[in-house]
Amino acid sequence: MPEWPEMEHYRTQLSPLISGQKVTGIVVNRPATINEPVDVFTTALIGRSILFVERRGKHLLFHLDDGNRLHLHLMLGGWLAYGEHGPKKDSHFQVILTFGDGFSLYFGGLRLGYLHRISAKVVIEQMKELGPDPFDSRLTLEAFHNRMAGKRGRLKTTLTDQRFLAGIGNCYSDEICFDARVHPAFAVNKLDPSVSERIYRSMHKVLQEAKEAGGYMDHPLTPEDTVTGGYNNQCRVYDRQGEPCYDCGNEIKFETLAGRKMFFCPNCQKDS
Ligand SMILES: [Zn+2]
Repeated sequence: MPEWPEMEHYRTQLSPLISGQKVTGIVVNRPATINEPVDVFTTALIGRSILFVERRGKHLLFHLDDGNRLHLHLMLGGWLAYGEHGPKKDSHFQVILTFGDGFSLYFGGLRLGYLHRISAKVVIEQMKELGPDPFDSRLTLEAFHNRMAGKRGRLKTTLTDQRFLAGIGNCYSDEICFDARVHPAFAVNKLDPSVSERIYRSMHKVLQEAKEAGGYMDHPLTPEDTVTGGYNNQCRVYDRQGEPCYDCGNEIKFETLAGRKMFFCPNCQKDS
């Protein structure tokens, strides 16, 4: 599932391409992807301009010039493409938005994911339980440690809890724990302040590096895009079960924790 780096990468790539563009055509191949009848959705969107693209955690919000938003959550398997033509037949995409300049935004893989047209008020309601962004300036080291100290869970489940922090999922929680040299199943309320500082710094480092490398999703946004997916082979532990740790050579282990996959190096990530 796309996480903070993938969605932030989408936002920065898409913003200059579609901000200010007017929607001139809509194709909905899968009505269940949207939240209202196709004719209502289409009539409401045609002629509207996209003012800018915002990201909240793993969500993208396309701000429309009538005050409404298009709320995109890619969930598992969703991806985007942009261009004069799609990378596959149009029927492969659940929704296609075409703009005044003749270019289109293609929404693919939205089986669990969705694209909803909602008001600003509904956005507030739907996002009210979302925790702070990992880079929110109010999330200082002290605030981060205090939030951790008040939790009862394990590190992995805490980092992936969207009410605790918005945007981190299975892949980057493992990468952050490895970078900080902390076992992902460690109890967060027992973390020493020096250890939570390592986690805090690793969180920023890993997410920023992954974003700059284009995240781990392997669908390029445009035919010229050579950046997207660049982080796919930079993961140190995620999805590397049985392979040697790049730092110590020991085997990367896989376990499940509260139903979540957890990859780690038992030698580098001893309990802190
Ligand atoms: Zn190791």
